[in-house]
Amino acid sequence: MAHPHPAHTHPHHSDHQHGKPLIRFEHASFLYPHGPALEDITLEIADGEFLGIIGPNGSGKTTLLRAILGLMPPSHGSLRIFDCACQELRCRHRAMIGYVPQKRSVDPYFPITVHEAVMMGRAGVIGLWRRTGRQDREIAHHALEDVGMAEYEDHPLGALSGGQQQRVFIARALAQHPQILLLDEPTTGIDTTTQHTVMELIQRLHEDLHLTIVLVSHDINLIAPLAERLALLKTRLYAVGTAREILRKDILAQVYGPQILTTDQGHVIVADHHHN
Ligand code: ADP
Ligand code: MG
Repeated sequence: MAHPHPAHTHPHHSDHQHGKPLIRFEHASFLYPHGPALEDITLEIADGEFLGIIGPNGSGKTTLLRAILGLMPPSHGSLRIFDCACQELRCRHRAMIGYVPQKRSVDPYFPITVHEAVMMGRAGVIGLWRRTGRQDREIAHHALEDVGMAEYEDHPLGALSGGQQQRVFIARALAQHPQILLLDEPTTGIDTTTQHTVMELIQRLHEDLHLTIVLVSHDINLIAPLAERLALLKTRLYAVGTAREILRKDILAQVYGPQILTTDQGHVIVADHHHN
């Protein structure tokens, strides 16, 4: 990466050697008005880890990310992030968590340039009432370089392809200089080739910037080769471990039902075709 960010110069970890836990769920449950979205979650995510969250539609994957953002205090149990209770996360801490939400398509006429979209990531860091300055513009530019989109800086966001827009949204999160990057279904609605490009980008950010990555995907086969651990979710946490440990018919069937197939190559074929 051409421009190592100051915030990323903390001591780095070699592969599979991670720091202390940054995120700790302990018997945590999260409720929506109509009922529990997550129940009795116990999970630690270490500094520098790449964790993949898998599970069928409605299993609470997005809710788990919202919880890490401090947007949903647990009804039972606890969730600590950077050693703060999640409901006490200060702005300073929240700015250290980059979030790429589940994709909605951008109105092609929405009047915002690529540069402006990325600057919105800076606004969260410096506070809404301070003006962004030259340094912020440089950081935004570097973030776009990190995702290979610098040459599109002045283009209207809505004119870009889905894959390009997704890279811009990743740049917006990177412009915060986050320590943790949360991505919700980052490849949904993107063609297969571009899906792999986006996943390779995320992998590179994990390695080069030593970001802690929590990536939600319903596409098990896309995420399995990249994530160091997978968490299998369906309201409860059914299993956490390496792809080799998790991608077994007996384990996956608990969540996806008996129609699940696994091939000798380690591919998983899920009968349900929800894309959400
Ligand atoms: P996933 O991302 O795995 O598809 P979600 O976390 O979005 O799952 O949803 C988990 C459950 O919580 C679902 O039953 C869903 O209908 C419900 N839910 C999600 N968001 C809300 C919300 N804002 N208000 C009420 N219920 C919600
Ligand atoms: Mg979701």
